[in-house]
Amino acid sequence: MRAIPLVDVKAQYEPFLPRIREAIEGVLTSGEFILGPNVAAFEREAADYLGVKESVGVANGTDALVLVMDAIGIGAGDEVICPAFTFYATAEAIARRGATPVFADVDAGTMNLDPEDVAARVNARTKAILAVHLFGRPAPLAELGQLGVPVIEDAAQAFGSPEIARGGIASTFSFYPTKNLFCIGDGGLVSTDDPELAERVRMLRFHGSRDKVDFELIGYNSRLDEIQAAVLRIFLAELDGWVASRREAAGRYADLGLGAVCELPEDEPGHVYHLFVCRSLERDRIRAALQDAGIGSAVYYTTPLHLQPALAHLGYRRGSLLVTEQLAQENFSVPIWAGIDAATQEQVVSVVQASAPVAS
Ligand SMILES: *Cc1c(COP(=O)(O)O)cnc(C)c1O
Repeated sequence: MRAIPLVDVKAQYEPFLPRIREAIEGVLTSGEFILGPNVAAFEREAADYLGVKESVGVANGTDALVLVMDAIGIGAGDEVICPAFTFYATAEAIARRGATPVFADVDAGTMNLDPEDVAARVNARTKAILAVHLFGRPAPLAELGQLGVPVIEDAAQAFGSPEIARGGIASTFSFYPTKNLFCIGDGGLVSTDDPELAERVRMLRFHGSRDKVDFELIGYNSRLDEIQAAVLRIFLAELDGWVASRREAAGRYADLGLGAVCELPEDEPGHVYHLFVCRSLERDRIRAALQDAGIGSAVYYTTPLHLQPALAHLGYRRGSLLVTEQLAQENFSVPIWAGIDAATQEQVVSVVQASAPVAS
């Protein structure tokens, strides 16, 4: 049996290598490396794809979060509600602005923010809700939008979902190489329907200046570069096919009977399966069997953000967020990427099934 990685990034971009090389060659020939025609074109194409008025390329998904929160004036004394069951950058960006992350619990079925628990934590200091579309599944934007607080979407794991980038005031994306839409290094994006917010993010990414002469804000140096933008333009045109492939692969795991041994992620039309994250009380045994068979698997956020050392001063304890802590103990993911084939998935499922205790 051959080894199977958790995600095969190379398999996704290999068919496009000649076009990638051609795009890089084009940038080299132009001599324009920063904020040139490829970034401008990608920003237009990404906004059209997302169905929003504006998008702004930035250096990475973490900066995208920091710049949006800076642009809407979030800082010291403000609270931003977010999940603790997410990548560290979500809460780090809030703390980086000098504001306080307030962790709400998640729903056990969707693994996304639980709107009721969010509602219970809204107060006069709450400046925003930072909703994560976790593992590619859309967060409950309609419910969160009714709480009277601006919603920001951390959409780093969900580019390609038709259900995102519409409920919030802005969405942020990462093009880190394992994300659904990715580049060949670091990259990020902010999208919004608010032209003033877009303009402010555009200034912030370039030291707070519109024209490189007058510096109106204390900003950042956080730009998407031309080579990454040129590659992203190639990949954006492939994204719908990649999303269809991921959704097909998710359906195949269900058809192959993986759900008999562990709890599969609930499907819904907007789920773009950045990862295929299952649940089981037996996950350590399942993962040991996968490892023995040379198959990649992973567990996520085993130390949820409310228990991370850097955020200990916030005063959460074990037991503060029961669903989050339960998911941290039960979740594990099996291989998925755009283009994974049926034979590979069959191999994964047979190993997981063989690891199950024999029913008496
Ligand atoms: C990847 C990710 C980020 C950070 O993106 P970078 O480009 O690595 O800075 C932020 N939030 C979530 C939910 C992510 O998955």
